[in-house]
Amino acid sequence: MATASFDTARREPRTVSEIEKAPEFQAAPLPRGARVSLVGLTRDGMREALVGIGVAEREAKMRASQIWNWLYVRGATEFGEMTNIGKALRARLADAFSLDRPEVVSEQVSRDGTRKWLLRMAPTGAHDHNRGAEIECVYIPGDDRGTLCVSSQVGCTLTCSFCHTGTQRLVRNLSTAEIVAQLIVARDALGDFTGQMPGKDGGEPGRLVTNIVFMGMGEPLYNLDAVIDAIAVMSDQEGLALSRRRITVSTSGVVPQIERLGLEANAMLAISLHAVRDELRNELVPLNRKYPIAQLLDACRNYPGLSNARRITFEYVMLKGVNDSDVDARALVRLLKGIPAKINLIPFNPWPGSTYECSNWERIERFSEIVFDAGYASPVRTPRGRDILAACGQLKSETEKLRARTRMMLEAGMGAEAVYADQVD
Ligand code: SAH
Ligand code: SF4
Repeated sequence: MATASFDTARREPRTVSEIEKAPEFQAAPLPRGARVSLVGLTRDGMREALVGIGVAEREAKMRASQIWNWLYVRGATEFGEMTNIGKALRARLADAFSLDRPEVVSEQVSRDGTRKWLLRMAPTGAHDHNRGAEIECVYIPGDDRGTLCVSSQVGCTLTCSFCHTGTQRLVRNLSTAEIVAQLIVARDALGDFTGQMPGKDGGEPGRLVTNIVFMGMGEPLYNLDAVIDAIAVMSDQEGLALSRRRITVSTSGVVPQIERLGLEANAMLAISLHAVRDELRNELVPLNRKYPIAQLLDACRNYPGLSNARRITFEYVMLKGVNDSDVDARALVRLLKGIPAKINLIPFNPWPGSTYECSNWERIERFSEIVFDAGYASPVRTPRGRDILAACGQLKSETEKLRARTRMMLEAGMGAEAVYADQVD
């Protein structure tokens, strides 16, 4: 029977392969009568929404640009703020649409300013019990950058054996708007829209969120259309204005989609490698059975725009006695030879029911030494995020023992959230 491949026919319903847990649901249309939020829409989406309520095509384009500026530059939360739009049209807009953001269910702020938000999306139908799916979004401040870790799906269909997200029952793709809205919520909470913040040295305001990593929930390359559109909205220089070079997409290795990510999103690439042998990677990242290491690295070598200035980040979770030997470290370095690469070692973040343990610090240190000696040094940064490492629970007290360079390397990552600030200098 001919079935659509889920890698190439993303808009088609797809069959579930043995390496996946469950199919994703697309978000159903909003319940009848609910006002659609304009927050997170693309330019086309916004224009179409306006045409949909009877605004003439030509006017719709102009109005969409105005709303775009209010929403994405100034962070407007009410149509009433949009003073360059006539009262009558504002009233029609408010009738048909909202400027609702996802609901912030909880916010945790850590000592160093890291913030974690639990966000509830608008309800999309029976499969989320009309309650709205929940996702996490994390902001990590740094000296010269602020990184926002966003989710691309609710849950994940893949079942990497060390990952908590893969055990979640409810799985669906996030829409473009739901992905972009994570940045809006962060800017709201941080006062990071123009006009809400003091200028640096009296000049342009310095943005707090400067970098985005798609390292939250989900496999971004299984929701690539929405991710590409979301990156376009986030990097629109007349709007949210992030640089594409500061947007990194992490994948477990969906080989056929990697080139398209480079061509259409022009984003930085991160690969969740975690093992240097197929046998082990099959176990840790079951998608490897479909796209083994050699194929994955070929796709990396051919990644559009790859250069020493635009390196691929390889993520490697440190699992005690599993993938953390000297032999593994040397094999890792050999494997990546010739690919402009950065290596991020992630201390494993245990979760209830997980069968792995995090490697001990001496082991991580030794492993990182081998990697460093091969030339994969992290750029020198002021240490940051000590309590990001505290996300690794019991490992916290041990961090103080780490040598500076090992700490630098580890501080670029944060366990399950796996956020790296180490992208663009
Ligand atoms: N699905 C994508 C992106 C989200 S996961 C991917 O797999 O790349 C982001 C990163 O967190 C990945 O490198 C993933 O392997 C890592 N990760 C998942 N669970 C983890 C855990 N318990 N401890 C440490 N890192 C983890
Ligand atoms: Fe999905 Fe990434 Fe977790 Fe694997 S590591 S289950 S791909 S979120």
